Amino acid sequence: MKKLSSILLAFLFLVGCSNSPKVEEAKTTTMEEPSQTSEVYSVNVVVVGAGGAGMAAALSAKENGTEVVVIEQMDYVGGNTSRAEGGMNAAGTVFQKEKGIEDTAEAMIEDTIKGGKELNDKELVTFLAENSSPTVDWLTSIGMDLSDIGQGAGATNARMHRSSDGAKVGSVLIPVLTENLEKNDITVLKGTKATKIITDEDGKVAGIEAVSNDKTITINSNAVVLATGGFGANEELFVKYREDLAGFTTTNHPGATGSGIILAQEVGADTVDMDKIQTNPTVEVTTQTVISETVRGKGAIFVNQSGERFTSEMQTRDVLSAEILKQNEKYAYLIFDQRVMDSMKALQTNYEKGIITKGQTLEELASALEIDEKTFKASMEKWNSFVANQKDEDFGRDKGMDEDLSKAPFYAIKVSPAVHYTMGGVKINTNTEVINTEGKVIPGLFAAGEVTGGVHGGNRLGGNAVADIMVYGRQAGIKVSEYVKTLTSIETVLPTKEKTEAPSEKGSLKDGTYEGVGKGNEEGLKVSVTVENGNITDIAILESKETPSIFDGAKDVIVSEIIKTQSTEVDIVTGATNSSNGLIEAVNNAIEGAK
Ligand code: ADP
Repeated sequence: MKKLSSILLAFLFLVGCSNSPKVEEAKTTTMEEPSQTSEVYSVNVVVVGAGGAGMAAALSAKENGTEVVVIEQMDYVGGNTSRAEGGMNAAGTVFQKEKGIEDTAEAMIEDTIKGGKELNDKELVTFLAENSSPTVDWLTSIGMDLSDIGQGAGATNARMHRSSDGAKVGSVLIPVLTENLEKNDITVLKGTKATKIITDEDGKVAGIEAVSNDKTITINSNAVVLATGGFGANEELFVKYREDLAGFTTTNHPGATGSGIILAQEVGADTVDMDKIQTNPTVEVTTQTVISETVRGKGAIFVNQSGERFTSEMQTRDVLSAEILKQNEKYAYLIFDQRVMDSMKALQTNYEKGIITKGQTLEELASALEIDEKTFKASMEKWNSFVANQKDEDFGRDKGMDEDLSKAPFYAIKVSPAVHYTMGGVKINTNTEVINTEGKVIPGLFAAGEVTGGVHGGNRLGGNAVADIMVYGRQAGIKVSEYVKTLTSIETVLPTKEKTEAPSEKGSLKDGTYEGVGKGNEEGLKVSVTVENGNITDIAILESKETPSIFDGAKDVIVSEIIKTQSTEVDIVTGATNSSNGLIEAVNNAIEGAK
């Protein structure tokens, strides 16, 4: 979106100038860059990062009467949240009650602290658990389906909430949040990266500096909410804290660079648990697709290349990562049957993606995996007998063994551990206020989500990331609103979509936001197309499994061309034929609904 952003910013600047005297143009001169244009805007609250935490914070701030802008460094929203698989942990929810599952906040606190090796900030955990059920209600009220419940590893009770069709939770949550931001008229400035938190002479937060292409943007504000996510895609940073992870791959999106942590540190923020980094044990080896632990919860087992089980599959993620890395080949096969396959849409999608090996019989699967047939069959038979007796005599597994693996065909996914989640980050209290190295609140600086540390301690339980970003994102919106209401309100002067993006002539499409899916190199290239005044004004990538290095450049060109020409009959980008076609197909599918 680089190209598009620069066009938009130039345009918004011109329009903004004529409409608002507050928008200023200034020339700054630095040693490195002789001359740079800057733009100045203002709003009560700036939220940095448009992942789950940032979008929840923005929405909740707006609900609480506070004007807010979201800035996002990438040209699409969603961050790592888009990739969240399993679900959202919550205790004592209406959905659990409906299903007769007895669960309490106390049990969730206990599990979280046990899973976190007792390193968690107990107050943060207590707030998380106690507010998990109300947050599920809140999400339900804005259109999120969390009515299905799964069993997560390390959880005493089934409390991992997700959509009834078993889709990846992130792929449902981000569109719901995006839609609500639209509905609430919250501006998201994409392709805009925060580079500095501005503070006044008393150390109070006074805004943000950002860059968008070659422009510097200053947004004066009363408060800033950092929701910039973790640093799992920044090898230099994670190796700084954990040398043993040098060379690890990552499951994270490319924007997970930890820049928010650095920005916060520059204004004195303290950090906690920076060396606590979770590697996910079940990452498909060729595409880095995370395979949810729900698959194991539903009965899947691990075998190694020799066809032998080697651990209880329901142990915490760190233990399982270590167990897999102890195997000669440093990978494992996750084995399941048609029953498990039928119960999970995410698995069916992965099968279509070509990352699951199938065998009509156990022999056929063993042969496809080049595993010794006899050993493999013996492992499967033994496992099924453990299930029948409800006793895992080899490794003491006691969960996710309600049903055996006997319904042909059989399946395998080759998995190994990769850096998945950074537990550490900026220190906050339960008001989401950022704490400095002297233990004091930094006035006007709030943070929520993976950028913060303390909630998960030494290890995060599956399902607790979405709980964290939603509970604390929402809390950040509430608390930042309370804070700014004690100060003189700042007039909102922002580039609005109407001013910036809508072409002057009325087009023929129906206004609204439409989603469409296309197939590039991979299935599931999902876009959200915004139509305003009859014209396409925005195309956001909601989901993509395309190779970023190929797709990102092509996407910028194609999105810009479609918006410019108001047509999907645009040239494909050389070197990215499939991705280009997939994107065009997704936009075409989306605007079908707008005709
Ligand atoms: P969380 O799960 O905590 O919401 P995500 O990874 O989902 O975190 O989202 C964080 C978002 O913040 C990502 O979309 C990322 O690109 C964005 N981000 C990170 N650093 C910056 C920055 N300096 N300026 C703007 N956006 C940022």
